[in-house]
Amino acid sequence: MRLTKSPVVLRWVYATALVLFLAGVGSRPLQAAEAMWKAGVATAEITPVNPQWMAGYGGRDRPAEGKLHPLFIKILALEDARGQRAIIMSSDLLGIPQTIYNATCAALKQQFGLERAQIMLHASHSHCTPVLRGALYDAYPLPDSQRPVIDRYSTELEAKIVATAGQAIAALAPARLAAGQGSTGFAVNRRNNPEGSVPKLREQDALKGPSDHSVPVLTVTEPNGTLKAVVFGYACHNTTLSFYQWAGDYAGFAQIALERNHPGAAALFFSGCGADQNPLPRREVFMAQRYGEMLAAAVEEVLLKNPAALAPKLDVAHELVPLKFGDAPTQAELEQLAVVPAGKQATTQTRWAARLLTDLKAGKPLARDYPYPTQVWQLGGKQIWVALGGEVVVDYALRFKAEYGPEIWVAGYANDVMAYIPSARVLAEDKTPRAPGRSGYEGNTSMYVYGQPAHRWADDVEHTISESVRKLMAQVKAGK
Ligand SMILES: [Zn+2]
Repeated sequence: MRLTKSPVVLRWVYATALVLFLAGVGSRPLQAAEAMWKAGVATAEITPVNPQWMAGYGGRDRPAEGKLHPLFIKILALEDARGQRAIIMSSDLLGIPQTIYNATCAALKQQFGLERAQIMLHASHSHCTPVLRGALYDAYPLPDSQRPVIDRYSTELEAKIVATAGQAIAALAPARLAAGQGSTGFAVNRRNNPEGSVPKLREQDALKGPSDHSVPVLTVTEPNGTLKAVVFGYACHNTTLSFYQWAGDYAGFAQIALERNHPGAAALFFSGCGADQNPLPRREVFMAQRYGEMLAAAVEEVLLKNPAALAPKLDVAHELVPLKFGDAPTQAELEQLAVVPAGKQATTQTRWAARLLTDLKAGKPLARDYPYPTQVWQLGGKQIWVALGGEVVVDYALRFKAEYGPEIWVAGYANDVMAYIPSARVLAEDKTPRAPGRSGYEGNTSMYVYGQPAHRWADDVEHTISESVRKLMAQVKAGK
């Protein structure tokens, strides 16, 4: 049968359809499509396959002898509603040295158009992870045979970071983000509490600060509510363990616990400003596991409380700020310091002095500043995330929280780990002659460990970094 409609009938049909359409009758209620984030996650194992030197402790005298658990890099790619992209990497690494940071950023720009502001690379600072190219060579008694092994591993690592970032970007899919903050208390200020006294001081509730026990948490869930990834941090050296097996230490155990509790989700750790904080007591595997589970429990508590949703808006800012070196050694001083006394072994400082002396004699002047990476992100128009290079002492996190609000997140060990970053207070405490009872490590002798061409940073180190953060903070808040 063929239906013929008169113009009157047709007008009636159109008018009724319009009324039904506007009323939402006969279809799902009309609403604007929810603007969403997109997120993608990818993971790669990076456990060395060849016998390789372990990073972090100068006292090691041989390569690793097996693994406690595998080492990983994990990358979370994000895209906001405007198409602004960024990547966050967590890694079981001591710190990413400048050569790897630069090479990786160049490749990520070339392949995916990402600028440094859009790239946030974290290192967990586990001391049961491999030595990387050019990093802290003065600190280790490295046999020559190790250098090509380390070079090859580092080149493969760069390629893996870029490939894994590509996989995370390819996996971008609609997601919701939320932010929260918990806390756990195993970090101890190592400058103010002698390690041997910590159990007693803890018992008496007499541990001295400053410390930052906050646990920042970023959750990424699929539209159906399934947890896809959780990014979390803690401000404490990842140095419970010091043996000869590859391990992620407490941060590795925390990620294992969270991934066990949430099958299919990726857990990504980032270090806070824990350069002067240690997990104490330490040295036993069960302790690393216990601290990891304490940290995971703090994250779980945040998940229970339904963290605050973040609108799909990401603002990023970054700069390489010239950080000035302080007192530099003279050639005469280096000649003295480079001497290895008869019958003694070379030390970190003799290797440091000999290398700088070679540079000076070759006509290469010692650098007087360092291109230091500072970075600020704002997620959802409200959650601030500051990421600083180097081993940053806790004063920075406490200062920025006092200035910009207790809910902000402050990461250290981000992007390029080139040295300790003392505050003005720590730098003053560690000036020679040193105050009694002070090791002077964070403000002074760690510069030799990192091979930097000075005895210390210039006195304005904290001022320079905090002014840079202030500038970047204004940029993200302006939505630039
Ligand atoms: Zn350290």
